[in-house]
Amino acid sequence: MLTREQWVERAGGLRHPAGVFLGGDFVPVAGSLPVFSPRDGRLVAEVGVAGESEVDSAVTAARAAFPRWSGLAPRARAACLFRLAELIEREAESLALLISVEMGKPISDALGVEVPAVARTFRWYAELAGKEPGEVADTDASALALVTRRPAGVVAAVTPWNFPLTMAAWKLAPALAAGNTVLLKPAEQSPLSALRLAGLVAEAGFPDGVVSVLNGPGPLTGAALGLHPGVDVLTFTGSTAVGREFLRHAAGSNLKRVWLELGGKSPNLIFADAPDLDAAADAAAWSIFFNAGQMCTAGSRLLVQRPVAERVLARIQARAADFAPGDPLDPATRMGPLISAWQQGRVRAHVAQAVSEGAELRLGGAPVETGLRGPYFAPTVLTGVRPEQRIAREEVFGPVLSVLVFDTEEEAVRLANDSDYGLAAAVWTGDLGVAHRVSRRLRAGTVWVNCYEEGDESVPFGGIGLSGHGRDKSRHALEKFTDLTTTWISLP
Ligand code: NAP
Ligand code: MG
Repeated sequence: MLTREQWVERAGGLRHPAGVFLGGDFVPVAGSLPVFSPRDGRLVAEVGVAGESEVDSAVTAARAAFPRWSGLAPRARAACLFRLAELIEREAESLALLISVEMGKPISDALGVEVPAVARTFRWYAELAGKEPGEVADTDASALALVTRRPAGVVAAVTPWNFPLTMAAWKLAPALAAGNTVLLKPAEQSPLSALRLAGLVAEAGFPDGVVSVLNGPGPLTGAALGLHPGVDVLTFTGSTAVGREFLRHAAGSNLKRVWLELGGKSPNLIFADAPDLDAAADAAAWSIFFNAGQMCTAGSRLLVQRPVAERVLARIQARAADFAPGDPLDPATRMGPLISAWQQGRVRAHVAQAVSEGAELRLGGAPVETGLRGPYFAPTVLTGVRPEQRIAREEVFGPVLSVLVFDTEEEAVRLANDSDYGLAAAVWTGDLGVAHRVSRRLRAGTVWVNCYEEGDESVPFGGIGLSGHGRDKSRHALEKFTDLTTTWISLP
């Protein structure tokens, strides 16, 4: 692993392509967008902005590329995806550095967690290409009926900044493997890693127009994709408010299929009989402090059974010290800055309101001075939170844990399900009966038992309720990007 000084030096030498990646090349554009690093507030780049005319050109290029790409043998599409995975591994350090600089993720996590997951995702879907056979229906002898899945056409993917390349890979890999062409609109805070990915797409040998990367502000570039009649499917990961926008865009245009992967307020239930209380507490700390709490699956509501509440809280408090905010380019740092000063103010206001309504500030609650002038925020724990409080209901997207104490299994389930979101939940117990009963009753797309945030490419990920309905990962993601079609052949 490089030292902090080496990473800082490399960051100083980063160069970024001009324009947007469209039709297989970087093309110059009129508009530009500044990119500031949350590490220290410094301007690190000006990137091109795709306006309506660039979106239109990219859709045209994607439509033109679709027949060729979807007509290839699946193994030929897989070969491109495999090459892309290799290039991502070759460029792991530069991709991790870009992520760390643009959105403040600790370099150790960018290099050790995010980039490997991105390469794995492309490889996993490359392996799946061509392995989803259709069906022959059980008709009488006068017909031959085929049920097949066909690629939907042009897919637009609009993604957030918190896992810039993982979110892109979760959309691109299955959509491309299934034979679609794709337009990626990364978040305006994290266009640099996406532009680098575009360069690797070109190098991997994808035919021109199969992938375009269109930077730009959501209300301009994102909305142009949402409204475009030439986009067949729009897959979105981000906030619930913007998800609603995309449903309106679809309703007002061509009724394109919209998949929403949105926010969460995930409950983490620790029962007194958890097999390893220390492990449960460590996971509870990690689940809210990793990525500075900027995780859709953050375990932001800790529900802990009364007899062990103090012990668990003490351990979380001790673990919080491991997440003292620091320079994301220091390999020892486990928590970097928040995405922006605006978000820092929002997190602070959430905490202040919770305290004014009677919650107790057990730890943190304030910005942290690191000498870098970025929006750093202390790991924060609030106890005595009531379920009706805003802090217990809204996504904070920061390192703020709300703690609620329960007595009975019934109460735990009621508190856990008292949310409009339904992304994820966890249960810690040594009793298989409790684990099974409770996990069946929890309203969430994923329930972890005696772990948090575990999983791999083989399992679907997504939510219910205000957390959306789309599923990323697993073979089920292919269903988002394909149309089920019937061919009924009448036999003479
Ligand atoms: P966001 O503000 O909703 O933005 C997501 C994307 O939508 C960005 O590319 C954004 O572009 C674009 N956008 C914004 N306004 C738009 C508009 N009016 N029309 C069209 N597009 C628009 O979310 P974020 O702040 O980037 O990310 C944090 C959110 O993502 C959290 O709520 C988190 O829970 C959620 N998330 C969910 C998952 C999941 O799998 N369920 C995973 C990760 C994150 P700009 O950046 O230019 O505004
Ligand atoms: Mg945004």
